Amino acid sequence: MSETNMSIEAIHSLAKETLISHGCDAENAGAVADTITRAEADGCHSHGLMRLPGYVATLKSGKVNGTARPTVKKLAPAVVQVNGHNCFAPYALAQGRAHLIEAAKTCGIAAMPLIGIHHFSALWAEVEPIADAGLLGFACTSYKPAVIPAGGTKALYGTNPICFGWPRKNGPSMVFDQASSVMARGEVMLAAREGHTLPEGVGVDAEGNASTDPNEVLKGALLAFGGYKGSSIAMMVELLAGGLIGESFSFEAAERDNGDGGPPQGGEFMMAIDPNLLGDADGWAEHAERFFNKMLEQDGTRLPGQRRHHNRSETKTKGVAVSDIILDKIRAL
Ligand code: NDP
Repeated sequence: MSETNMSIEAIHSLAKETLISHGCDAENAGAVADTITRAEADGCHSHGLMRLPGYVATLKSGKVNGTARPTVKKLAPAVVQVNGHNCFAPYALAQGRAHLIEAAKTCGIAAMPLIGIHHFSALWAEVEPIADAGLLGFACTSYKPAVIPAGGTKALYGTNPICFGWPRKNGPSMVFDQASSVMARGEVMLAAREGHTLPEGVGVDAEGNASTDPNEVLKGALLAFGGYKGSSIAMMVELLAGGLIGESFSFEAAERDNGDGGPPQGGEFMMAIDPNLLGDADGWAEHAERFFNKMLEQDGTRLPGQRRHHNRSETKTKGVAVSDIILDKIRAL
């Protein structure tokens, strides 16, 4: 597979210019380009440039408003609602983040429901800034049905990722971010593109038979990680990012989606906690380090996020090897 080496700046310009040429204004395009660039820089290619054709498809079909102005409303002292008015999630998040942080620092804990957004990205890029601001962060979002509920036969849940961030005083924030399916759909798409087979137990074909062919699984459905346990986590995400905040469940998002290949309209739930206001202001940071160190004493362990931070420091100077298949698709836009 041929690749082209691109600098971080070149990736950002390519993403931003492509979005602007399809109807985004500079603010909306810039926020999405930031997200795409961060994914490429951290080696999360499934949520980088590969997503650009999907973003563009929604602009072309008119599903997403590339010039939307999200509005922020305080529903309670610790609840900050952001309505994206049909923008891509990164711009809505950028408008709400400071308000969420401020509310958590005042109240100890705060929530930010996001409605009317189109989410197509990795959650860690959204939670990391919360953790870097010294707060615990949590985020989850649903999508369109892709995952079968435990015991069932048809996809009902999205791949429904959850992300948790923990601030550290002398090191990068610990952020884990994982789909509640065995594998994220973006990874299955990557495997299809690169011609890899999937491990056993990732998904089923359209007839519900177990399959390791990514193209068949994309037509069929994925399984939740950990059987019924992951299935319940996926259900929790549907309730938090849909039912709780007045947004759609994955199956409802699919019902009203136009099938243009880009992200449907849906919701996201975010939460922030100020560790200085939960009872151990002087000790929490060192106490947690003791715990991390205890874990890392064991050979073979590492903190989640470590791979990304390593990639980030490498790509800053060396750039990113981007698949020519993806670049050709973007040029064709
Ligand atoms: P992975 O299974 O690749 O990784 C999940 C988490 O586990 C990461 O935080 C990763 O850290 C960590 N991790 C991996 N290996 C180890 C290890 N050996 N020890 C400790 N920690 C480890 O992610 P998924 O495939 O589940 O999800 C990929 C992305 O897809 C996520 O960013 C998610 O937000 C996104 N997604 C988005 C959706 C959407 O609708 N917008 C839907 C579903 C997924 P590290 O990164 O350092 O390896």
